[in-house]
Amino acid sequence: MSLIAPISPIAVVLLSGGQDSVTCLYWAKQRFEQVHALTIDYGQRHRIELEAAETISQLAQIQSHKVLTLESLGQLGGSSLTDSIPLEESARNGLPNSFVPGRNLLFLTLAAAYAYQLNCHDLVGGMCQTDYSGYPDCRRDTLDALESAISLGMNWTTTIHTPLMFLTKAETVHLAQEVGAMEALRWSHTCYEGKRPPCGICPACRLRAKGFAEAGVEDPLLQP
Ligand SMILES: [Zn+2]
Repeated sequence: MSLIAPISPIAVVLLSGGQDSVTCLYWAKQRFEQVHALTIDYGQRHRIELEAAETISQLAQIQSHKVLTLESLGQLGGSSLTDSIPLEESARNGLPNSFVPGRNLLFLTLAAAYAYQLNCHDLVGGMCQTDYSGYPDCRRDTLDALESAISLGMNWTTTIHTPLMFLTKAETVHLAQEVGAMEALRWSHTCYEGKRPPCGICPACRLRAKGFAEAGVEDPLLQP
């Protein structure tokens, strides 16, 4: 059994519709001949994210945008992203209750299964451990282990690219400028409250605003 396979010029990008995944989509467009976006509908309360992902996929003129469902995560509940419960900064195990256990592990495994069908070895995700809220499935160590598990379990060499992993939010804004993602960011969604225009006060809005302020760049989402 060999794990060696030719690297193809195709990438599957996990696209949530948020700032980070949109930046990754445009990063991938510069590096791969074909880019396929994958959005997972896991029962997130804010359906506006799914609309954002579709709008941005069209804007980016990529090869395809697929939506797969993973309703089990919503059925399990317990997270402020899937249930109507208030956000708690330190709910359990030192993590905020916006943590959805297993989410990125399942997303990337599904993405790998989809990539296999496309004859693709390259996955791209916006996980970032620099500003990370304590989510253990956003750490590079976790993704290295998952990369090995997927490559072995599918006998298909798989690379998980995480271009934002070690960038600050301000550096991510500069990267978005570099790769031409600014127009698309106007349609991205970040707010935990699911509001558009964004509420400006939830932790997600504050983190996004801090990044743009530190980068000295105006957030296209806030332009009239
Ligand atoms: Zn907000």
